[in-house]
Amino acid sequence: MGYPKEVIDAAQNELTERQQKAQEKYEQNLMLIRIKEPEIYELEQQVRNTFFKLSLQILGKGGNPQEALRQIEQENRRSQELERRFLKEKGYGEDFLTVHYFCPLCKDTGAVEGKNCKCYTDLLKKYAAKQLNSLLSIKLHSFDELKTDIYPDSVKTKMGNNFLYLKNYAENFSCETTQSMLLIGGTGTGKTLVSSCIAKTLTEHGYVVAFMSAFEMFKRLENENFGRADTDTLATISSCDLLIIDDLGAEFKTNFTEAALYNILNQRINNEKPLLISTNLSIGEIKKMYNERIFSRILGCFTPVKFEGRDIRIDMKMKGSNANI
Ligand SMILES: [Zn+2]
Repeated sequence: MGYPKEVIDAAQNELTERQQKAQEKYEQNLMLIRIKEPEIYELEQQVRNTFFKLSLQILGKGGNPQEALRQIEQENRRSQELERRFLKEKGYGEDFLTVHYFCPLCKDTGAVEGKNCKCYTDLLKKYAAKQLNSLLSIKLHSFDELKTDIYPDSVKTKMGNNFLYLKNYAENFSCETTQSMLLIGGTGTGKTLVSSCIAKTLTEHGYVVAFMSAFEMFKRLENENFGRADTDTLATISSCDLLIIDDLGAEFKTNFTEAALYNILNQRINNEKPLLISTNLSIGEIKKMYNERIFSRILGCFTPVKFEGRDIRIDMKMKGSNANI
């Protein structure tokens, strides 16, 4: 999967920051021990120096490298056990002088046995989606901004329940979440606003969200497909934790867009990765607009949530709000 250079750079910078943070914390703790517990500090220095001392000693005598390594490990383990016991006795917690890496698996290097560690591929995913979302300049909102008083009385309770339901969906989202959502309703009933709240909540919880309008998504896919762009939208669409397609049905429909839509739906659903689609189309209109395979995927795999009320964008403007919905 080819990620752009900026995405790779950003992911590697974060790895370096993680490494530095872990190292700095260790150095701070070591400094404290050096001042307060000189005997433990001494022991820590021993642990750090053992490797060099012993390897020089053993190899200097023409010893067997494997045997040297075994002895060093044994020696180190003994010193470390002693050190941990002392730290515990002094009330520091036995891992006080352990470097706490964000990812203990690769020690924040991003690689394990020459292969990319999962923490690194997660970072690539995160920055690829971030780059994509920033290119699309989507403004994210939070659930606190949602107010039902902009809706007519007849739908206030229903919309309040919808907000709660979707807030719950966002807050309880996990890697095991496979439920896809379909937000249905007329223009300006708040679907994009609520989608952006979901995107924000998930992003804050560390999930990778790709959020784009159907129009923009198909335009990008088409440009990439015909070699007119060197970005990789499809990679982000396939790998992100939640794919949000806003305003499905507003795209200029062609054979290409229909095939692309089916592939995206099919691939994500088969891989148990959820989508959130918002549309102004009714179920009947979806059936009319798309082929049977797409319609049955949407009908069978999505939970519909119906948005109601008049165009709240007009109301918001009249009330002088500048919320971008
Ligand atoms: Zn890792």
